[in-house]
Amino acid sequence: MTAQAAPSAPSAPSAQHGAPSPLLTARAQLAEAVEILGYDDGLHQMLATPRREMHVAVPLRRDDGRTVLFHGYRVQHNISRGPGKGGLRYAPNVDIDEVRALAMWMTWKCAVVDVPYGGAKGGVTIDPRVHSAGELERVTRRYTSEIAPIIGPERDIMAPDIGTNEQTMAWVMDTFSVNRGYTIPAVTTGKPLTIGGSLGRPTATSRGVVHTARAALADAGVGLEEVSAAVQGFGKVGAHAARFLHEAGTRVVAVSDEYGGLVHPDGLDVPALMRHVAATGSIRDFEGGTPIDNEALLGLDVDMLVPAAVEGVLDARTAGAVKARWVVEGANGPTTSDGDRVLADRGVVVVPDILANAGGVVVSYFEWVQANQAYWWTEQEIEERLEHRMLSSYASVAGMARSEGITLRDAALVIGVRRVAEAHQVRGLYP
Ligand code: GLU
Repeated sequence: MTAQAAPSAPSAPSAQHGAPSPLLTARAQLAEAVEILGYDDGLHQMLATPRREMHVAVPLRRDDGRTVLFHGYRVQHNISRGPGKGGLRYAPNVDIDEVRALAMWMTWKCAVVDVPYGGAKGGVTIDPRVHSAGELERVTRRYTSEIAPIIGPERDIMAPDIGTNEQTMAWVMDTFSVNRGYTIPAVTTGKPLTIGGSLGRPTATSRGVVHTARAALADAGVGLEEVSAAVQGFGKVGAHAARFLHEAGTRVVAVSDEYGGLVHPDGLDVPALMRHVAATGSIRDFEGGTPIDNEALLGLDVDMLVPAAVEGVLDARTAGAVKARWVVEGANGPTTSDGDRVLADRGVVVVPDILANAGGVVVSYFEWVQANQAYWWTEQEIEERLEHRMLSSYASVAGMARSEGITLRDAALVIGVRRVAEAHQVRGLYP
């Protein structure tokens, strides 16, 4: 009997908003790694298919008394190397295929930076911007209760992602703990410090982006202080990445958020912009730059581009307009497979998401270790260990890319996929 081709295993992913579904991108990346590794169809199918998925209805009593229903998901893509790990996303267009893609990327990401986790992701189809704090708390508590049977410190550990934050993680941790009858801090990471969060976690993803950017530039003999950059996204990842680049002497000439962007050829005053965002909630109306749209930002004449917003922004067309020499992916899945080929053909160095943005999950791992030991580290210990882990992971990926003559993305995928496959194979198939 022949094995069914892996990509047809779960339901066929659809195209969204004209861009290929993130799941198509994730599966195409896996197929490329599997081809390089020479794995057979059976192993490919196992790696392409989530181990466990849960789809839950999340009813909410709104503040005005009406009841509305949301859909929630938790996908555990792989748990061969340890518990599932990954964020919880609140966005109006979340669907099961997006969560599957994000869960798969978490699996490779955790393996590339060698933290003892599998990969998972959660999502609720809700626009958090139009709900009160009370409504978001009730949605979070109900979602957590529904997925409680499959999460926990040894099973699946949640963290913030787009649309969720430290407060969301506090509600998840509290709901899970109250139902068990005792406090279980290690069920989430990215929590507030007062309940077992880790120093350095809020900025960890951005620090990792800048550590890997510095390493990639150094391979070409270039320093961060010599280059200009554009950062797409000014949220949890993009804002701090722009700040750390600015502090490293990089001329950050453009940033954007969901409402649009700002450009200043001499470099934006990033700290002043952060104060403006803290006061107004958006980069709009900041006086130290002129408006630019999100797409024009991607094609700016800069040395480095940091997409730190959402999936699929660099497709064949927008990648064709990129002038940057380095693309450092702060977001998950910002480049489609077609976009990736265009960038590679044009000699653009792409530091891939599963490496560049892994600083978040590295410090999540540190938070979980600290919670399990009930012993908290100093900020300096965390920052040093994060930098060491990011630079050693970058060195392994760049070393393989050089020796095999492949892109950094393919090298990262090969390292991540191989570690997962080896764990699966040495454990053996049960029964
Ligand atoms: N949501 C983040 C990511 O995509 C962090 C995940 C985590 O720390 O578990 O990497």
